[in-house]
Amino acid sequence: MVDALRCGVPRALRVIRGRARSVARVVRRGEHAASVRRIRGPSERPDGAATGHLYTEPVTFDNVRGSSTPGRPSRTKPNVSATPSVVQSLRAHAGPAVPFSVEFNPPRDAAAEARLWRAVRQFECMHPAFVSMTYGAGGSTRDRTVRVTGQLAQETTLLPVAHLTAVEHSVAELRSLVGAYADSGIRNILVLRGDPPGDPLGEWHRHPEGVSYAEELVRIVRDLGDFHVGVASFPQGHHRSPDLETDTAFLAAKLRAGAEYSITQMFFDVEHYLRLRDRLAAFDPIEAAKPIIPELMPITSLRTVKRAEELCGRPLPAAVLNRLRSAAGDGPEENAVAVRAAGIEIATEMAQRLIGEGAPCLHFITLNFAKATSEVLTNLGYGVTAAPISA
Ligand SMILES: Cc1cc2nc3c(=O)[nH]c(=O)nc-3n(C[C@H](O)[C@H](O)[C@H](O)COP(=O)(O)OP(=O)(O)OC[C@H]3O[C@@H](n4cnc5c(N)ncnc54)[C@H](O)[C@@H]3O)c2cc1C
Repeated sequence: MVDALRCGVPRALRVIRGRARSVARVVRRGEHAASVRRIRGPSERPDGAATGHLYTEPVTFDNVRGSSTPGRPSRTKPNVSATPSVVQSLRAHAGPAVPFSVEFNPPRDAAAEARLWRAVRQFECMHPAFVSMTYGAGGSTRDRTVRVTGQLAQETTLLPVAHLTAVEHSVAELRSLVGAYADSGIRNILVLRGDPPGDPLGEWHRHPEGVSYAEELVRIVRDLGDFHVGVASFPQGHHRSPDLETDTAFLAAKLRAGAEYSITQMFFDVEHYLRLRDRLAAFDPIEAAKPIIPELMPITSLRTVKRAEELCGRPLPAAVLNRLRSAAGDGPEENAVAVRAAGIEIATEMAQRLIGEGAPCLHFITLNFAKATSEVLTNLGYGVTAAPISA
């Protein structure tokens, strides 16, 4: 209710309806949890931690309680069938502009978690088509990621997409993770191979009982049940791909394996996105019809430039760098206000061009802050009305 009021009276009803749905989900989940406890047994983690039940066989989310198939344990399926897929959410978008979505990162500690939730509530008022939560390395971060992503499904009106990477996981663990996500009502999963922990450019080591490529993981997740899967695409090609043609073939293979859309790596030259679209259309026109969602990151400081280059694994185009550097000025101190303004302007111009070129959605990297993205959306005329945004 507080959120409803924060979002403003015209949106209050929508938020309240969302809350009612969340409450219903929680009630259903409670029923489901009781039944899962009965069947969990052998799939429990040795340390007894609740990981969600391990799916060893395909399941369908048809809301049928207790399969009576002889010889199989009876099983109650999580009621996630009512949750829309990302593609359905994009299609259902009713606003005048193209839909937008945002990416969050798992918080590292309690303070970061509080900041994340501030951003979540601010974005909730802006009605993104979906929100995604990245998946990092390291056990405690991973546990927090699963918990927080589950909370997005259960305690907000947002449609969460859980990123899932194959790094340091056996297939059994990956299945268990998918089960944990399904347990908390998550049906949309962005399937990734992930990078070697520590050094993203280091040598990739497959877990002895894991997978080598995202394509295999797409099949595993699809075989587990009625999940909706997205994959990564790379406008400039993945840094390990020998050439752009091979890179396109691997993307097409992930889509053929059952992915319904892709989200691109961030880029700063719209031409790269358009050329990716052309390459895929030439290679496989059927798979090219699936949404390719461009990822944008508004630059807010010269420090964010470094972060952006790390994330896309390539230097920013010279034209973009020059614009930011000239905004920073020649003085001993960077003109922070001018750099930020230039960064927002660059993201706005890119978004305008992408909208003109028919992009299906604009996906923003937020680093768990709402302000920069909301400024870009305001520039685009989205008329977003969020709670007062301080960061
Ligand atoms: C939108 C987006 C979100 C991301 N989120 C996360 C995240 O949450 N956590 C995280 O750790 N990382 C994340 N990443 C980074 C991503 O995990 C890395 O870029 C990783 O190196 C590639 O992942 P992939 O799923 O594209 O892998 P793959 O599609 O498996 O490709 C990996 C490499 O193998 C090659 N390849 C693919 N298939 C084959 C094949 N059959 N035979 C031979 N070679 C093949 C590809 O060309 C590529 O060079 C994200 C990237 C993007 C674009």
